[in-house]
Amino acid sequence: MRVGTVNQLRANTMMILFRKTNDLSRYLESVRKTGQTIGFVPTMGALHEGHLSLIRRSKEEAGLTVCSIFVNPTQFNDPTDFEKYPITLGADIQLLEKEGCEVLFLPTREEIYPLGTKDLPTYDLGFLETVWEGPHRPGHFQGVCQVVDILLTAVNPDLLFLGQKDYQQCQVIERLRVLTGRTDLKIRIIPTLREAHGLAMSSRNRRLSPADFEKAGAIYAAFQYLQDELKPGDTHPLLDNIKTRLTVQGFRVEYFGLARADTMEPVDQWDGKEGLVALAAVFLSGVRLIDNRVLTAK
Ligand code: AMP
Repeated sequence: MRVGTVNQLRANTMMILFRKTNDLSRYLESVRKTGQTIGFVPTMGALHEGHLSLIRRSKEEAGLTVCSIFVNPTQFNDPTDFEKYPITLGADIQLLEKEGCEVLFLPTREEIYPLGTKDLPTYDLGFLETVWEGPHRPGHFQGVCQVVDILLTAVNPDLLFLGQKDYQQCQVIERLRVLTGRTDLKIRIIPTLREAHGLAMSSRNRRLSPADFEKAGAIYAAFQYLQDELKPGDTHPLLDNIKTRLTVQGFRVEYFGLARADTMEPVDQWDGKEGLVALAAVFLSGVRLIDNRVLTAK
């Protein structure tokens, strides 16, 4: 890996690390002038195969791939979650180099928020902020928008790669794209990568004990059960049944519900036709896990 400066030429075999926004932006501007498209994968590090699948997709579609690693303090509503967020920078760099990621942006907190985090802009996310993750994580999506807005300005990508794992976040960032007039930016949503037993890969899984890791496969099994058993009409009895089963297995269920796949509006009565997504947030031994599954019509 090399540390980037403004005038550096791009090496094909080595990733360039930028710590300063200005250096990154100037470098990417020079790349853009050569006619290459730029793909961007924002992350908070502790990289796993799910993140790497986004890098791979970017490398397939874009001329140059930029990954950022920044554990954004403004999107953590729970300070303990922030403090305990895993940091594995050495391994992350190795993984990115192995994938052939061309640029890593690794800013400090001061670089992203030079004036601190008190007077940051807020974004009109409307209804999206009032459902599912919204009420359970006050301020979370504002924090996501604050950092993504700053990162998008720094990178100015043609393509932005996001994981479906964070379904609502994808919708929020699409709204941010519209709100901020980034009409040329294309968003690609990449399917969730899962462990063999169905648990969605997540940096937070590192905090699960081996026994809890095994147990967490039940979230995916619950989606499967829902897919198999769902019938038109009142969805509550089936959802209540699933929540009870998960609770008995030791999960604390924050929500487990059904929404319209396009708007995320909760669906209490299903007409048998509307496209649905099942959404879950559960705690297992203090670790909060979220997941979702788009249901297919039978
Ligand atoms: P994070 O580091 O958790 O902020 O995630 C960075 C990006 O990777 C986000 O767009 C996530 O949705 C995506 N991502 C996280 N986990 C997975 C996964 N299991 N499969 C696919 N994408 C994922």
